Amino acid sequence: MELDQRYPYHSIPVDEALDKLQATKEGLTEEEANQRLNKVGPNELTGKEGINPVLLFLKQFKDFLILILFLAAGVAWYADQRVDVYVILGVILFNAVLGFLQEYRAEKAILALKNMIKQETTVLRNGKPKTIEAKQLVPGDIIKLEEGDSIPADARLVSGKNLQTVEASLTGESLPIEKKTDPLPEKSNLGDRLNMLFKGTHVARGTATAVVTGTGPHTELGKISKSLGDIKTTSTNFRKKTQRLAKQMAVISIVTSLVVFVLGYYVRDYAFEEVLLITVATLVSSIPEGLPAVISIVLAIGAKRMADQNAIIREFTATEMLGSISVILTDKTGTLTKSILTVKSIFLGDDTELEVSGSGYATEGDITHNEESVSTSENAVLAKLLFIAKECNNARLSGDKDKAGSDEENDKESEDDKASGDPTEIALLVLAKKAEAKNEGALPEAQQLDDLPFSSEQKFRATLVETDGKREILVVGAPEKILKLSSHILDSDGPRELTEDQRQQIQDKMDDWADHAMRVLALAYKEAEGGIDSVSAEQVDGLVWVGITGIVDPPRGGVRKAVGACKSAGIRVMMLTGDHKKTGAAIAREVGILEPENENSDYPEAMQEDELEDRENDFDELVDNVSVFTRVSPNTKLRIAEHLQEKGHLIAMTGDGVNDAPALKRADVGIAMGIRGTDVAKDASHIVLSDDNFATIVRAIREGRIVFQNVRQTSFFLLTTNFAFVFVFIVAITMGLPFPLTATQILWVNLVTDGVMELGLAAERGHGEIMKQKPVEKDANILDKSVVPYLLLMSAVMLGLSLGAFYYYLPQGAEIARTAVFLVIAMTQVFNTFNMRSIDRSLFTIGAFSNKYVNIAFVVSVALQLLVVYTPFLSNLFRFDPLPIPDLLVIFLLSSTVIWIAEIYKKIRFGKQQPDIPEGEEWMKDENNEKQKV
Ligand code: ADP
Ligand code: MG
Repeated sequence: MELDQRYPYHSIPVDEALDKLQATKEGLTEEEANQRLNKVGPNELTGKEGINPVLLFLKQFKDFLILILFLAAGVAWYADQRVDVYVILGVILFNAVLGFLQEYRAEKAILALKNMIKQETTVLRNGKPKTIEAKQLVPGDIIKLEEGDSIPADARLVSGKNLQTVEASLTGESLPIEKKTDPLPEKSNLGDRLNMLFKGTHVARGTATAVVTGTGPHTELGKISKSLGDIKTTSTNFRKKTQRLAKQMAVISIVTSLVVFVLGYYVRDYAFEEVLLITVATLVSSIPEGLPAVISIVLAIGAKRMADQNAIIREFTATEMLGSISVILTDKTGTLTKSILTVKSIFLGDDTELEVSGSGYATEGDITHNEESVSTSENAVLAKLLFIAKECNNARLSGDKDKAGSDEENDKESEDDKASGDPTEIALLVLAKKAEAKNEGALPEAQQLDDLPFSSEQKFRATLVETDGKREILVVGAPEKILKLSSHILDSDGPRELTEDQRQQIQDKMDDWADHAMRVLALAYKEAEGGIDSVSAEQVDGLVWVGITGIVDPPRGGVRKAVGACKSAGIRVMMLTGDHKKTGAAIAREVGILEPENENSDYPEAMQEDELEDRENDFDELVDNVSVFTRVSPNTKLRIAEHLQEKGHLIAMTGDGVNDAPALKRADVGIAMGIRGTDVAKDASHIVLSDDNFATIVRAIREGRIVFQNVRQTSFFLLTTNFAFVFVFIVAITMGLPFPLTATQILWVNLVTDGVMELGLAAERGHGEIMKQKPVEKDANILDKSVVPYLLLMSAVMLGLSLGAFYYYLPQGAEIARTAVFLVIAMTQVFNTFNMRSIDRSLFTIGAFSNKYVNIAFVVSVALQLLVVYTPFLSNLFRFDPLPIPDLLVIFLLSSTVIWIAEIYKKIRFGKQQPDIPEGEEWMKDENNEKQKV
């Protein structure tokens, strides 16, 4: 029977909807799901992927420059220079092909990035929850959603808990909408279908179970065929910089070509058509037409390199923005730490302190007191604590490896295969399993009736369970919070009133553990009154305190070095965590965010959100001077971010939860966690870290700086070559010489050389210790005064050599003289590429041939010049008169003086500053050898 994906499922009750979709609440079988997938196709929006090469090629002709070239062709036609017309048309074509290739490469890189961001979802198959890629969903699948998930397909709600979704992407309504399961009138509008969930929207709150009604093109989103997860390409700061650059370059070329025209026509009386043609040719050559394409290539290469290092770019220009970051606001768990949380200590309500052995997520380990094993049968309080740990928990430990799409996942740490869910909850589950592994049936079986997931505002989670007909609410959360909500404490004789002394004792224990960088969790429960069957935050009070667990989460290897690198790179690192103040400070000390010298400053090392609120008037000053803020809510994160931005910082900020989305959007570079983060956070971010690692951010910043350098170096190259070239012209005309090149020769030398060489420069790697320099200034101009020496140098060499060559060969005829000038100009430009591989470092310290793209471009470019001069057909067309080979070699050698002169300049100007900085960066080395044991 056909599955009807268009049926108005919102108008019928849940059971009927399930029937119609031939589904049950236990989910489809794997087999059935596969059959359906073959029939209806993957859950993807089609038609927008892929690049259309034809359109991309045609787009090249829309360029302003092409218009000028056509104009030039018109002028040539008018001047009766047929050959020039063909050559110009050929150049137009060549230019379009080159532009096409560049953009095609950039587009392909963007597309590849897009495919790296995969959406996963939890689905019931064969009655068991399983994580699959969202594109494998089929109608009839039962999906489980929670806060922060993006909804992977259209679905009819089966059951929901405090469920609210945001459908702004579909209906424009930005407020969360409460969802209910009741059937609705068939004619309801999209926005009123409160029992339906729509692909592309997300869960803002609560949890849901739903049955998929439509996938891919059959979803509401598919109908309007809007593609989500697109890489955005707008970013004002970089746009401003590049637009300014383009303007500067355009002004320079317009002014210089006007000078050529005025000198040639009014001062020197060349024929009008001739001057006009030459002017248009110089204009065309000196306009940096390749610049936009080259910039996108530089960004694409940067993005690709970042992706290779686990930072996946979602907003293209974030690549460059990263180079200017001056503050990183990072969270703690998982980013600075390994996020393999392990319970090490337990402090029970009956005053006993226990040790837990075992490491990572392995379920072997023992619970001991004074080195002696303690079992749940001899300690009822421990039994209760472990029971809560197990039941008030949404994590899963599977151990089985039959995951779908497990192709490339295998190289992750093996723990990942076994555990899924919140790392804090996994740690508790592992703890409970340790006890169960030693003693079958150690913990009673309970039925989970309802669950209130953890939220960073509430700072606890709660579950309603039934055991042998008795209902209880189990609670796990931040200890201060739970202590406030507790009225009793459990000891060996049962619950009794919690005394002030006991509160103090618990507080002291918590502080002690937190000082040792332990994450502390409290576990408590209460009996559920009068047969309630759901749990909400309001019901969580009057709890019976059971105990606390101390969890360790060691810092990741390499983080300390990365933090150190930030410091020498002029980047401030701040930690904003939801954790306890002492835990936060202890970890901050371990990774080097806090250093001993901080200790005697006027400001506290770390502050809790409420302490910050108490000193509201000093807010700005405190944010500027304190580097660790704890127990912070997303709103405070946002305020801190805003304050720093007002002070002129560009900030990078990490986040993972739904509530982090505003701050992630607000940050100049919002960074979401790929493993731990919610879909909402990923959607709001500019970058997704596929390994959640802080060090990855720092590597990405390094690449960002290289991106800026490459944009700068490429523009310097374009400006110096173009300027020097026009300069030669102006001088020649002023001296009353014939034009040193014809219009077609001008076009060829510039379009062909620049177009090829700049591609090589775009791929330059960074040199020296990039993270020893200050961040690129926020509004730093791409063109700055450091280009001036190179302008002068290049102009001097090119002028000297080309005039020399012109005079030398002129007695043998204008054509051979022009050929010599052509070769000089082409070769000096090509050699100048090598200079521009680094503005301040010697070519020989960075390795003369270490950029293989420049090498290839060099060979291609030289070959093209020789081709046009030495093949009879082209040579005639361009009116060249080939030089003898020995002369060619001499010109080749002489032209290479641009390199020697630049080397001398670099030595004088930068030699002392940077004696012998080795290539590569110290902090990036042997990070992997540092992997600590858990
Ligand atoms: P962070 O991830 O920055 O450490 P969170 O806001 O996630 O901060 O957590 C704050 C506190 O809430 C933790 O210190 C812990 O006590 C508690 N907590 C965190 N996650 C959970 C969870 N899944 N269940 C119960 N309590 C939690
Ligand atoms: Mg957390």
